[in-house]
Amino acid sequence: MCGIVGYTGNLQAASIILDGLSKLEYRGYDSAGIAVLNEKGHTEVVKAKGRLQNLIDKTDSGKAIKGTCGIGHTRWATHGEPSQINAHPHVSSNSSDISSDNNSEVIGVHNGIIENYLEIKEKLANSGYQFYSQTDTEILIKLIDYYYNKYDHNPLSAISHSMIRVKGSYAIEVMFSDYPEEIYVARKDSPIIIGLKDDDSF
Ligand code: GLU
Repeated sequence: MCGIVGYTGNLQAASIILDGLSKLEYRGYDSAGIAVLNEKGHTEVVKAKGRLQNLIDKTDSGKAIKGTCGIGHTRWATHGEPSQINAHPHVSSNSSDISSDNNSEVIGVHNGIIENYLEIKEKLANSGYQFYSQTDTEILIKLIDYYYNKYDHNPLSAISHSMIRVKGSYAIEVMFSDYPEEIYVARKDSPIIIGLKDDDSF
């Protein structure tokens, strides 16, 4: 098991997400990560192997990451060893630039398993994609990026076409740097709860 948390609204996202992830710690995990998108469409990704506390320390309890829209994840590895590079969020660029700002277009976290990821990976490689991790999740994010570029940078088209292609179970949260205040979610056989309060969405 593991967990995903997202927040978009008026408040600073990182500390809310870290707090949410700490409430899901009981589910078990081997690494954790967070991505926050600021209003300029600039994404910051920070990941850490091991305890969530490592991520909390690395980000000064979230205060070091500014922005009001973000996603976070605690990972229970199924594809690829527990490591910082395999930790989520995953990005559509060709390297996981995890120590500094990242201009990736598509950023996401995922609970579950993409069963046909090897077949999809091969097709994406033929279209010029490169991969930095061993995870099925990176393949999913790159598949969404592929359809995002194919279908006029429309997030819903990109995600729905991807969901038709993938086999398996999942709960995902995806951000697009062209849509700085939005988080897209999809699920199959895994739960997601969406909470709304005034201008805040959880
Ligand atoms: N299959 C994904 C991975 O190994 C997600 C695992 C999870 O649900 O945390 O990264």
